[in-house]
Amino acid sequence: MREIDVIERIRARAPKTNLIRGIGDDCAVFRPRTGEDLVFTTDFLLESRHFERHTHRPADVGHKALARSLSDLAAMGSEPAFCLVSLAVPADIGSRWIDSFYTGLLALARKYQLALAGGDLARFNHIAVDVMCCGRVASGSAMLRSAAKPGEHVFVTGQLGTSALGFATQHGAAWRRHLHPQPRIEAGLTLRKRGVRACLDLSDGLSLDLHRLCLESHVGAELDAAQLPIARGASLEHALDGGEDYELLFTAPPSLKIPARIGQVPVTSIGTITRAHPGRVLLDGRQLEPHGFDHFANPDS
Ligand SMILES: [Mg+2]
Repeated sequence: MREIDVIERIRARAPKTNLIRGIGDDCAVFRPRTGEDLVFTTDFLLESRHFERHTHRPADVGHKALARSLSDLAAMGSEPAFCLVSLAVPADIGSRWIDSFYTGLLALARKYQLALAGGDLARFNHIAVDVMCCGRVASGSAMLRSAAKPGEHVFVTGQLGTSALGFATQHGAAWRRHLHPQPRIEAGLTLRKRGVRACLDLSDGLSLDLHRLCLESHVGAELDAAQLPIARGASLEHALDGGEDYELLFTAPPSLKIPARIGQVPVTSIGTITRAHPGRVLLDGRQLEPHGFDHFANPDS
């Protein structure tokens, strides 16, 4: 396997929408439209940390690596523009694994007209993927973690705890969902256009991600456990502390009409933003500790 052959195959398959210059030069060239802001995010997906080779097929790894970054674009209410993909693989991984990895990644990219603008390939002793994504949004309208206000309602898309349930059981629809998270791009665009200002995606669990939103906005929150849209078979702990649901958590003033569904995705009101100590979240009146997944707080997990 020669690197140049692998790159040529990727180049031939890469969607080039939006790009003035894609793979093949030192840099890609992208020209933004006037009146728009560009948003950027990057996410690692690491073997033995985020996935195992014996449970995740290469196409699953490709899908998930991109889905994580697209979920961040969804959280800002942005339209996907392009991505850069860096992939390191051990010497025993051949071109078939790499081709299948890109099959999974590019299928998701095509769904959102996301261009593959470039990246890097390297040998390493584990599989390591880093996906950088760029999205576009009307100037000044990106949804932010820092924009939640006291008195606003707290909403979540989809269901909570699906991915944690799938990880625990490793079978059925929840496991498939764990392998193939669906970034809420359409929901993010719809919410931003309806005037939602505060949003983030649930990557590490509701308890930790809501705590982060509240810290950034200098507010507190109160949740009602009975309103949480817990996935069938999942526990309250899965719903509160399980990561990788990749749903959107957002707030909106009572005057803003929020639809009960966006496409196929349900939207549920789960609580209220308060003037409590910044970051303080109550669940049924009791303090909710942020127990979601934190890489540096749980170095041995
Ligand atoms: Mg995020």
